Amino acid sequence: MASLEQRNKPQPGVNYPMTLAYCGECSMPLEYCEYHPNYQKCKQWLEKNLPDEFDKLVKLGDDRKDDADGNTEEEKKPQKRGGRGNIKTKNKKKEPQNITLSRAPRGKKKFVTVITGLSSFEIDLKDAAKYFSHRFSCGSSVTGEDEIVIQGDVKDDLMDAVTEKWPEISEDSIEDLGDLKR
Ligand SMILES: [Zn+2]
Repeated sequence: MASLEQRNKPQPGVNYPMTLAYCGECSMPLEYCEYHPNYQKCKQWLEKNLPDEFDKLVKLGDDRKDDADGNTEEEKKPQKRGGRGNIKTKNKKKEPQNITLSRAPRGKKKFVTVITGLSSFEIDLKDAAKYFSHRFSCGSSVTGEDEIVIQGDVKDDLMDAVTEKWPEISEDSIEDLGDLKR
């Protein structure tokens, strides 16, 4: 099976078309991995070799769990409906979540900017709120378990503010949610 394995290993310098990626574990196209009995191993392989695809797949899988029974879960524990996000956090405590930025109306013409996800990077939210207030010269406060609201329309500058202050956060892990309705 050496040749098969070689073919499926990502080669340096080659751009793998996302849609044609094959799994090195079960040798199927990635989208079929979840039907493979060793899906857990597929995921491990993916995580190592194609982390981007792994992320996508895991997210897809989480979405599907609402309808199907979680047959790919390692432990078959009863799951609550709608608890997607929580399940993920519980299973992988250490893995940073995406940070999200969004804008929400405040009054007639004003906006606030909401940022979530910082605490998964082990950032102290109060310090972060203080930093944002200085940086943008406006009010900023911790408004939830992992949410900061900045009293101003600063979303366009917020990505830079975050990556400058915390270089360990890459732009890729910051998601711009656009405008929120309140
Ligand atoms: Zn596979």
